[in-house]
Parts: sequence; C-alpha cells; structure tokens
Amino acid sequence: MNIKFNEKSGLVPAIIQDVNTKNVLMLGYMNLEAYTKTIETNLVTFYSRSKQRLWTKGEESGNYLNLVSIANDCDNDSLLIKVNPKGPTCHKGTDTCWGEVNEQTFGFLTDLESVIKDRIEGSDSNSYVSSLFAKGINKIAQKVGEEAVEVVIEAKDSNDDLFLNESADLLFHYLILLQAKGYKLADIVNVLKLRS
Ligand code: AMP
Ligand code: ZN
Ligand code: ZN
Ligand code: ZN
Repeated sequence: MNIKFNEKSGLVPAIIQDVNTKNVLMLGYMNLEAYTKTIETNLVTFYSRSKQRLWTKGEESGNYLNLVSIANDCDNDSLLIKVNPKGPTCHKGTDTCWGEVNEQTFGFLTDLESVIKDRIEGSDSNSYVSSLFAKGINKIAQKVGEEAVEVVIEAKDSNDDLFLNESADLLFHYLILLQAKGYKLADIVNVLKLRS
C-alpha cells in the first residue's frame, strides 16, 4: 500500500473503527514498522509518541485490537483501520477514547428508541406512548397487529402515501412492543445476523 508517512515524523494517523458497530474507538499514529508489525501479527500496533517506541495496543491490559482491514484515504495520508476490539479500548476504561459506549446503533431509529424509553419511564398522561404502555403488553401487541393489517390493506392499494404512513405506524408500535418486552432493535438485528 502506498502510504504517505509524514516527512518529518515518519508517522501516519490511523483511525480505529469497530467493524461491527462502526463506532470510532481511538486515534493513533503508525510508522512503517508499526504498520508492518500490525499486518504480520494481526494486532494493531502504533508508534507511541510518548513512549517513543512501538506500542501494540493491549500489550499490558490485554485489550487488543484484532485487525480486520486497513484502508488508505483519498490522498494516502491517513488510515482507516477496522478492528474487532477485545475489551474496552481506552486506558481509562471506557469503550472509546471519547468516553462512549461501543454499542450497535441505527441512527434515527436508535434516537426514537430513546424517546420511547423516556416516555415509558416517565408517566406523563399526555404522552401517547406512556398511556399505551400503561394498558399492558396485550394491548400493545394488539396495536401492532392492527397496524400490520393496515399495512397489508394499503399494500394492496395504489396509494403510496397511505402505505408509507401505515408502515411508519407499524414500525413505531413495534418499537414500543420491543421495549415493553424488554428488548431493543439491536437484539432483533443480532438474531437476523445469526441467520445470515
Ligand atoms: P495497553 O496498550 O492497553 O496495554 O495500555 C498500555 C498503556 O498505553 C496505558 O497505560 C496507557 O498509557 C496507554 N494507552 C492504552 N490505551 C490507550 C488509548 N486508547 N489511548 C491512549 N493511550 C492508551
Ligand atoms: Zn487525506
Ligand atoms: Zn483513551
Ligand atoms: Zn395505522
């Protein structure tokens, strides 16, 4: 790979990304030797500027970064390294060096899950989610069934707008049912992944 190591320092920045969750775990620097060792051992190895030596991430803690792939950026001056992390990546104990939890997220749907969780935990009677939740699992499951039937009806029709809206209703109520059962979208995705 044609990597442009910095002329003065001999280093290239390497962004470390979890191959599964897609979260950025940390940023490190590599020289040619660190890059070569990473490829040879399949364990991500940096050049530590503070230690002034090669540093295999996890060498003391056991929290290694197992190499999956390395990609050069558009002008060859930064690397994107995908890994399977063994344990938390940051030496302060958090999953990422920015203090984040390294969990699977689904963009807007994950934000929506959080809103639903907040509504369920609070008991604001003005909240639709909160009042539906209060009626119990059977009622929530029944709502999912009704919305599913509405999707079926609209799928047969030619009104795309109604079909999209009923689909949104179904997904929304399904997310409520999942939480009421104590699960998250990530649990279902994991089941699907095991099948593939
Ligand atoms: P480790 O490589 O996990 O065995 O940690 C060895 C040492 O490297 C720690 O004591 C820290 O000084 C440093 N270190 C470990 N992980 C990180 C990190 N993600 N970012 C910066 N320094 C780190
Ligand atoms: Zn670049
Ligand atoms: Zn850190
Ligand atoms: Zn509906």
